[in-house]
Amino acid sequence: MGLFEVPAVPVLNAGYVKLVGLTVDLGDLNGLDSLDGLTVDAQVARAARVSYQAGTKSVRSDARLIDYLVRHDHGSPLEMPHFKFEIRAPLFVRDQWVRHRMGNFNIESLRYSKASLDFYVPDEWRAQDAVNKQSSVSGQFDADSNAKLSAIYTDQMLVAVQTYERLLHEGVAREMARVVLPSGMYVGFVWQSDLRNLLNFLRLRIASNAQWEIQEYARVVLELVERFAPDTVASWRRHVLGEEA
Ligand SMILES: Cc1cc2nc3c(=O)[nH]c(=O)nc-3n(C[C@H](O)[C@H](O)[C@H](O)COP(=O)(O)OP(=O)(O)OC[C@H]3O[C@@H](n4cnc5c(N)ncnc54)[C@H](O)[C@@H]3O)c2cc1C
Repeated sequence: MGLFEVPAVPVLNAGYVKLVGLTVDLGDLNGLDSLDGLTVDAQVARAARVSYQAGTKSVRSDARLIDYLVRHDHGSPLEMPHFKFEIRAPLFVRDQWVRHRMGNFNIESLRYSKASLDFYVPDEWRAQDAVNKQSSVSGQFDADSNAKLSAIYTDQMLVAVQTYERLLHEGVAREMARVVLPSGMYVGFVWQSDLRNLLNFLRLRIASNAQWEIQEYARVVLELVERFAPDTVASWRRHVLGEEA
């Protein structure tokens, strides 16, 4: 592991989130010889001080200034720091992720390269929520039912994977063979977002009405962002999520 490397964090049975980049203000690197102590909060405060000039003189601490910005939804200083992640997630999670348009994506091409044949295997099958039509309820299936549902699912996934392999073997192009792959297949992508839009993503995707699988990814993203933007995330938790200090 290199001095400036952040380990990938596993998510679900075969996915991960890896923080691969973040923007720095060059002055913040002075005196650092590792990632310990590097934060992006100062970038937010510095940008705000430029816009408000003398008006921020009374707010000496960066943390207090950031708290003011977040509380009053002054978002543009939060757009200065950017975070970049490498992510491996099932296709259905990726589809939900790319709906967040205020970010940059680069997605593994299944025209160019052969798909990895890993697929998502849920630990637990959730039942349809009777009230919220797009939600689900856990704890409804006992261990035997869970095992039966997993067997039904895995059989079908293996057929799909084998069919993909057979089509390739018969000489079919990757761009056509991939059509048989289900939305539980894992795929890789790179996502870059500024802090403001990242926090918007997190607000929406750690919420209990988001699908559990993307919540799992969002919780990992939040931990990584919190490590490098502790003051901003603390204010966001307080003023946006309404958490107690
Ligand atoms: C629980 C849940 C269920 C969902 N279900 C569905 C669904 O069934 N079908 C579906 O299509 N999507 C669905 N979505 C996606 C949702 O509608 C949003 O597209 C997605 O959450 C991205 O949110 P966003 O627009 O705030 O983020 P971004 O796209 O990253 O945009 C960030 C912000 O930029 C601004 N912005 C972005 N684009 C525009 C624009 N065109 N005009 C004006 N302002 C803009 C807005 O202020 C926005 O909040 C769902 C999302 C959640 C969390």
